[in-house]
Amino acid sequence: MTARASAIIWCAYPLSTQSLPQPPNPSSPAVRATMQGNRRRDTRPERSIRSALHARGMRYRVDFPIRPVAGARPIRPDIVFPRARLAVFIDGCFWHGCPKHGTQPNRNAHYWTAKLKRNVERDRRHDVLLRGAGWTVLRIWEHDDVLKAVDRIECAYDSASMGLTPIANAASRARIS
Ligand SMILES: [Zn+2]
Repeated sequence: MTARASAIIWCAYPLSTQSLPQPPNPSSPAVRATMQGNRRRDTRPERSIRSALHARGMRYRVDFPIRPVAGARPIRPDIVFPRARLAVFIDGCFWHGCPKHGTQPNRNAHYWTAKLKRNVERDRRHDVLLRGAGWTVLRIWEHDDVLKAVDRIECAYDSASMGLTPIANAASRARIS
């Protein structure tokens, strides 16, 4: 096994294959808050992780479109390191079916079941497409500890960067000392 392969395995982040848990109390304030607080970009966990990466001198792109297949609609991971071909998603527990906190409203259950199932299927499809195009894909739950998540990103970045030349690598890293 090559050093690169073992490094990737070491920091591999297991993808959840569990199904969504039982629906919660429909009028749960927590569910309402989650849904009302959801935004496509710049969620609180994203901001925390991005600023922690920045503090470590790691430079990334936000809203960077990746077309793994020519002509297909672009995929926009939450954080992208284009040169290292590392795509990071910060998945919200509600919208992406977190096995620990994923909840499903009882009201309009039919709609939500289908909607959330579609989201998870799309996530897995994107993972396959990106990996097929040579990208490293990292998925982090919004409930994950920020510092541990940033460690995982840094580890994946180092693994993904191994094939790059040292000069380019150092430049894209641009560490603040
Ligand atoms: Zn969660």
